[in-house]
Amino acid sequence: MDVAYISQIHGDLTIFKKVDAPGLEHLVKPGDIRSLDDVYCRHILEGRLPELIPDTSLIPLALEMPITAAVPIGSHISVPVRDDDGMAVGMFCCLSARPRADLSDRDLGFIRILADMIGRQVSEQYRDERELGDRSLLVRQALEERAFSCVYQPIWDLKTARPVGLEALVRFLPKPYRPPNEWFADAEATGIAVDLEVEVMRRAMNALEVMPPDLYLSLNASPALVLSGRLAELLASAQPERIILEITEHAIVDSYDDLTEALAPLRRSGIRVAIDDAGAGYSTLQHILQLAPDRIKLDMSLTRSVDTNPARRALVLAMVLFARETGAVLIAEGIETRGEFETLVELGVAKGQGYFLGRPDRLAQTLQAIKSPPGDLA
Ligand code: C2E
Ligand code: MG
Ligand code: MG
Repeated sequence: MDVAYISQIHGDLTIFKKVDAPGLEHLVKPGDIRSLDDVYCRHILEGRLPELIPDTSLIPLALEMPITAAVPIGSHISVPVRDDDGMAVGMFCCLSARPRADLSDRDLGFIRILADMIGRQVSEQYRDERELGDRSLLVRQALEERAFSCVYQPIWDLKTARPVGLEALVRFLPKPYRPPNEWFADAEATGIAVDLEVEVMRRAMNALEVMPPDLYLSLNASPALVLSGRLAELLASAQPERIILEITEHAIVDSYDDLTEALAPLRRSGIRVAIDDAGAGYSTLQHILQLAPDRIKLDMSLTRSVDTNPARRALVLAMVLFARETGAVLIAEGIETRGEFETLVELGVAKGQGYFLGRPDRLAQTLQAIKSPPGDLA
């Protein structure tokens, strides 16, 4: 056959996605769009034309259609590409300028097998595109309408059982609830991640006016936000020594030099920097060395069962020494039990946060809760 293509059906249109037509690119190429009525598709889908046409001159309807003479089409095989629900989402089609009397049901069967395989592949892609389309819309709306609020989780000095700061965590309001990192991932895919982070941080910073002045505010910031250069202005209204930026790397960071450079003026002003989720696989020791953070936040996967798991205990101890040698303060995340808490104290971890010490909550509730020692430690 001279031409083979996969098309996507979109309303009344057919979009050519993949095309193999050596020497005939002027006739059809990827991205071309035609009306479903101008091609054989709709007639085939609705049963007026057969899927297998060895000779178009023998089929009156095919002969009538302008495209038959224009291309020209002498023989034609075309079968629908269906998604998981059986809906025709496109066509897989081959055609030749000449009649091909040798084309048989065997060829049609083979094309059907291929269309079935294509369907499995593209239906997922088409669904992802559709779903991301929906989620893009949601996250755009959330940004436009500022449909989020912030909760605050206390960070404690583990030895003295006194609060040292609050971490701001965003909560997106649309139902059903989805964790913030999923919203940020959608924002990223939509190209609005930094805009969203800026607005969230602006909201989170409102707490500074109400918080006791000896508490710092810990703000999550992606490397992209740091590199955007928008933090200096955003943070200008705050006392720098009350701000800690938690750098969360959930994506590959291209250049640590650029990140270090972008952080430098902020740090010179007095803002401190934490590496978030250390030990989770995102922030390697190499990265920690390069950024030389003031705080290292141990990922909660290391905190979990540190009291009963000797390997985790050894890793946490190694991090205690690493922090001591590099002059950083270690903060354990996700402390859920008294056992974990006591082991972390024993290992010399300086600070910590987690459900055992206080859940993220609205600002007023958190400020009330930290008035007394956490987790019945009194
Ligand atoms: P993260 O910064 O490492 O935040 C810690 C996460 O652990 C939070 O989840 C918190 O609610 C949860 N957590 C705290 N204590 C415990 C505990 O004892 N046990 C367990 N199982 N979980 C605990 P959350 O709020 O769902 O946030 C998830 C991630 O989303 C954050 O991880 C951070 O990377 C990102 N994120 C959250 N808020 C913001 C924000 O305002 N800006 C940016 N850029 N990222 C944010
Ligand atoms: Mg954090
Ligand atoms: Mg973390």
